[in-house]
Amino acid sequence: MSDRPIYLDHAATSFPKAPGVAEAMVRFLNESAGNPGRGGHRMSVAASRAIEDAREEVAALLGGDPERTLLGPGTTHWLNVIFASRLWRGTRVVVSALEHNAVMRPLRWLEIHRGVQVDVVPAADPFGVPTADEVAACVAEKNTTLVVLTHASNVTGAVLPVAEVIPKVAPVPVVVDAAQTAGSLPIDFAALGAAALVCSGHKGLLGPPGIGVMMLSPNFEVEPLVRGGTGSRSDSEEMPEQLPDRLEAGTPNGVCAAGLGVACSWLRRHSVEAVQFHAQRFAGRLGPGLTEGSKVRLYGWNFEAPHTGIISFRVDGLDSGELAASLDREHGICVRAGLHCAPAAHRRIGTFPEGTIRAGIGPFNVEADVDALVLAVRKALSLGPAT
Ligand code: PMP
Repeated sequence: MSDRPIYLDHAATSFPKAPGVAEAMVRFLNESAGNPGRGGHRMSVAASRAIEDAREEVAALLGGDPERTLLGPGTTHWLNVIFASRLWRGTRVVVSALEHNAVMRPLRWLEIHRGVQVDVVPAADPFGVPTADEVAACVAEKNTTLVVLTHASNVTGAVLPVAEVIPKVAPVPVVVDAAQTAGSLPIDFAALGAAALVCSGHKGLLGPPGIGVMMLSPNFEVEPLVRGGTGSRSDSEEMPEQLPDRLEAGTPNGVCAAGLGVACSWLRRHSVEAVQFHAQRFAGRLGPGLTEGSKVRLYGWNFEAPHTGIISFRVDGLDSGELAASLDREHGICVRAGLHCAPAAHRRIGTFPEGTIRAGIGPFNVEADVDALVLAVRKALSLGPAT
């Protein structure tokens, strides 16, 4: 076993980060760590510039307006902000059966404590991917306040038809959870027509943890969940009206913004299409490699359909948790077993409560990483190498 971990958990968080990310973060701390927007001196101005550069890079990558591109802690935070602002007693939210707990936990809380109606779209697909018509039919059943859809399942990698859903449910606003797709699939927020899109910096965007993005369309306003200092309008004890300040109270995370900006700039140069092609090609090698003549079952992966380079699998007769632990211990292979913070999705695909082993491919994986996983699983089954 080499010292280098074989990292196949890109769906949880990316590793390694894009070239230059760590250096940009160190540079920020060493050279421009004033408090952004809180003073006219050079250090404060340098910090503000780093953040605004990052905002522009993210907006350019994801096709949004920089002024309506908010930076905050991550997908979970921004989902909570949107839900708190839009959902209260008597409102109804429609979701897919494949949502992450970052969506389901706040919504179930609002259901129990605030009387919000939460409905899950019934989908005929065995792996729970709804068609646009199925979403539209569920939305049309009753007055609907909000639709929330994961852009791709973090369990199976299957992509949901959000672009087809949005015109079908209009004018009901659609919030897209792009945690699994930002940086992994091409996204043009303005063309998509979603009300809002949220994502984290540390996954497909190849940046650090601790920063995430919310993009708002021109006609979708969100109230702040957190109020405090912004550096602007210090004469007032109310939050300023203008974005991004209105939704970014407190000292912003300039260190992570500096890293995220460099990561997005790398992705724009490298191209997200190339990232997607790479992940799909390697998933196309991993899936059939695992199943060849073996007792491995894949969940929700379809070679024909767009996906994010996730292969979720189980091996008959082997416990997924134990197998994942032995893959790490004996082969240095990092994959994630269990429910992946998405119990609803696992229930829907029939893998609750044990879950699956999930391999997530990233742009820096090489063929040998995928082949090592195939070989290690075959070894666990006492099979020879795949052909
Ligand atoms: N939604 C999906 C689909 C995810 O995969 C994740 C992260 N696993 C999240 C939301 C939450 O992201 P974060 O933990 O970065 O806030």
